[in-house]
Amino acid sequence: MDENHSGSCLCGAVRFRTRGLLRGVVYCHCSQCRKQTGHFVAATSSKDAEIDIEGADALTWYGASDAAKRGFCRSCGSVMFWKHSELDTISIMAGSFDKPTGLSAESHIFVGDKGDYYAIDDGLPQFEKSTPSIKVADE
Ligand SMILES: [Zn+2]
Ligand SMILES: [Zn+2]
Repeated sequence: MDENHSGSCLCGAVRFRTRGLLRGVVYCHCSQCRKQTGHFVAATSSKDAEIDIEGADALTWYGASDAAKRGFCRSCGSVMFWKHSELDTISIMAGSFDKPTGLSAESHIFVGDKGDYYAIDDGLPQFEKSTPSIKVADE
């Protein structure tokens, strides 16, 4: 199976390629993700060593906490990455990928912090905070 995937921001200034197995998509409903994206985050994850980013000079990194930073295109504003400083992985927004993505969703995290204007009713596992397998920046 071809594990190579590509994606970009809306304006195309930032492009990336991944070549490893990608994690299932996790939906994060925490307030930081909601504020930054305008809704909630849907992100997969790649090993640092298995992603190449072109146009990284167009990326702006916002340190939302001491432990993690959020990467977005400074030209078009597309939210693209989430990076924990102590991990050798990088979260990539699922919507940034070109189709076919080959991705499927696996769970919801921080549902205790979700917006009050939508319901989560897709039957996927829901976690009040994070899960043991998904490291996040605890506040
Ligand atoms: Zn852009
Ligand atoms: Zn979040």
